[in-house]
Amino acid sequence: MKIEEARETLKHIGEHIKVHDGHGLIYSAQLVGALEIADAAMEKQIPKEPNDKCEYLKFKSGYCPNCSTSVCGINKYCPTCGQRLKWE
Ligand SMILES: [Zn+2]
Repeated sequence: MKIEEARETLKHIGEHIKVHDGHGLIYSAQLVGALEIADAAMEKQIPKEPNDKCEYLKFKSGYCPNCSTSVCGINKYCPTCGQRLKWE
């Protein structure tokens, strides 16, 4: 299963849970919160191109598209927020 499919599946579950919110299901708010955290974590696994990418003498650099930390080509993930990076 691809990350996009997993996100879509959890989104459907989240919508179903929300329908039943306020009907005495104490755990539902916790589940919605957990699904939101899972979704944010999965989104960071989808590779994104760094902003303002540049290359000088095979040294690639740029800025994390999620938190703007300065990143370079050896970083597969942003060292600050964990966003997966796409260099090619
Ligand atoms: Zn980042």
